[in-house]
Amino acid sequence: MLADLHVHGMAHGEFNHSKEAIRPFIEYAESRGLEVLGFAEHDWFLEEIKFELIRSLQVETPVSLRVGLEVDHRPGLDCAGLTKEYPFDYLIGSVHEIDGFLFDHPDYIEVYEQWDSDLLYAAYFERLEDLIESDCYDIVGHFDLIKVFGCRPKKSILPAVTDLLQLIKQKHLVVEVNTSGRYKPAGEKYPSDDILLLCRSLDIPITLGSDAHMPRHVGRDLADQVEALTRMGFREIVTFKGRKPEFHSL
Ligand SMILES: [Zn+2]
Ligand SMILES: [Zn+2]
Repeated sequence: MLADLHVHGMAHGEFNHSKEAIRPFIEYAESRGLEVLGFAEHDWFLEEIKFELIRSLQVETPVSLRVGLEVDHRPGLDCAGLTKEYPFDYLIGSVHEIDGFLFDHPDYIEVYEQWDSDLLYAAYFERLEDLIESDCYDIVGHFDLIKVFGCRPKKSILPAVTDLLQLIKQKHLVVEVNTSGRYKPAGEKYPSDDILLLCRSLDIPITLGSDAHMPRHVGRDLADQVEALTRMGFREIVTFKGRKPEFHSL
């Protein structure tokens, strides 16, 4: 079963929610055999999201369309205020920033030199813990994004990761398998296989996302991931409708 819940139909503002712009994303989803396609725009485009327009395209396609949101989690964020007026199917919580350091943005790459890698990972995990504790989200986006530009920890992160995953389990959150990392200097998906194996052993549910910012990246590598995840022992993936989880056999 193929689903892609992490698609940016507006990219970083290059497109908008018009039928002409959205249709190519849906066409790619169809050509890749997706059953569920979820648009999850960045929250800074909140007011430009056109729920009705996307829902009106449902009659044109067998792919089940969903509308989510990828929220840039910041400590103290008022997520209830952010979303109560909007009928989202799901919210992805993502950490992209450590005190003004936009660590996944190429313009900030030199800032890595100012950090000890272990301290950077610890700071990232602290923000991730705040995200998990916030009770705002359904999905934890790209769990180990801090590796995006190839910064690797010196000591094992698995003890800290295990603590975070236990918290994710307690909070009934879903971990996203995000294939975009393969096309970044990190060279592999988020999260890495050792973290996914921990998810499996803790029985944490997973979902799938390409993080596409253009139509031809919709569903990228997800069929391969389904095979790999099956080999790891996963049996199902989760999608969301109206903030309620739906479980599908892989
Ligand atoms: Zn993100
Ligand atoms: Zn994204």
